[in-house]
Amino acid sequence: MCRSSIERGPATPVDVGILGATGVVGQRLASLLDHHPWFRLVWVGASDRSAGQRYGSLSWRAPGDAPACVRDRVVSSCDPSGAPRVVFSALDAAAAESLEPTFAAAGHVVISNARSWRMDRLTPLVVPEINPHHLDLLADQRRARGWDGAIVTNPNCSTVFLAMTLHALSAFGVERVVVSTQQALSGAGHPGVASLDATANVIPFIPGEEPKIETETAKILGTLEPGGIRPHPTRISATATRVPVLEGHVEVVSVELAASPALEDVEAAFARFRGECPPGLPSAPERPIELALNDDRPQPRLDCERGRGMTVVVGRLRPCPALGYKFVALGHNLIRGAAGAALLNAELMLARGLLPVAPR
Ligand code: NAP
Repeated sequence: MCRSSIERGPATPVDVGILGATGVVGQRLASLLDHHPWFRLVWVGASDRSAGQRYGSLSWRAPGDAPACVRDRVVSSCDPSGAPRVVFSALDAAAAESLEPTFAAAGHVVISNARSWRMDRLTPLVVPEINPHHLDLLADQRRARGWDGAIVTNPNCSTVFLAMTLHALSAFGVERVVVSTQQALSGAGHPGVASLDATANVIPFIPGEEPKIETETAKILGTLEPGGIRPHPTRISATATRVPVLEGHVEVVSVELAASPALEDVEAAFARFRGECPPGLPSAPERPIELALNDDRPQPRLDCERGRGMTVVVGRLRPCPALGYKFVALGHNLIRGAAGAALLNAELMLARGLLPVAPR
């Protein structure tokens, strides 16, 4: 599609489904897809615990009501037959590991939130503002795996906020990064962390989270080569903690930059960051990164909905005696960190002609 047709979208909305539609991320996806200009949600799948039940009769934990487009649909088991050609996956990782390739082999394009295939050599791990060209890996994926369909992933919720801020600083040469996260409870899905553990507490360990932040960020910022991605050489050291916040992950970041930019130059790099995303994607925020003006921001309760939950808010930018500069970043873990990220990837793929779509 040419640029003007990208902005107008497809001639008719593309039918899509959600694998794992009953979970915390799956419900957010269903809400975001309700009345979406390019997509029509027609199918919801989940485990055998939910299959066979009316979607609207199951517990609804996202704001508002279950969307009208699927409220009366019966939840399917996660079997490709009967599912649309384009499916979002909000599956638990253990289920995603085998189910997503099953769908890809059956000709479905799977746009996944799960960690299972993110670090696979032939699977694109995409943030449209950073590495839309990594979608070119799909040709290798299809050839090597013999799939008519495909798997495309979006990053771990903490990874995406860090990667966006580092990409904004890429002109200065990002050499070393130390990041400590304070992650919201909703990041653990439902029922998540036990209330007796979480209330008025900080848990200084999230299983598997730190390696994900370190390796996924290097892949996203990495270089596309024949048959894979060469990870970016930046050294990243992550500490992940869980805090009693409902939505919005905070990250405290120190960076060492190869160039020695002035503070105003670093601030300007964040403020003017627009990234590599093509224009006209409905879920893309006007400003992928916003600078908080006050020293006591960003705060999850006050700032994580900026840009409809798709904007990363950066504040407290100042010199760091150890590495050079430090700042605080905040993002909405369920939207920019999960459901909205997958949706933006789907919009990017549609705009690049990588989804089955009726000609305009
Ligand atoms: P969740 O609330 O636990 O939801 C998991 C979903 O997977 C439910 O719909 C569940 O269906 C389904 N499921 C589980 N086992 C299944 C099986 N064997 N077959 C078919 N469906 C199965 O988790 P979540 O927080 O929404 O996370 C979903 C995925 O996104 C995970 O891979 C997670 O790591 C990733 N993610 C989450 C966040 C976040 O902030 N929460 C951020 C980024 C990425 P039932 O309801 O029927 O059990």
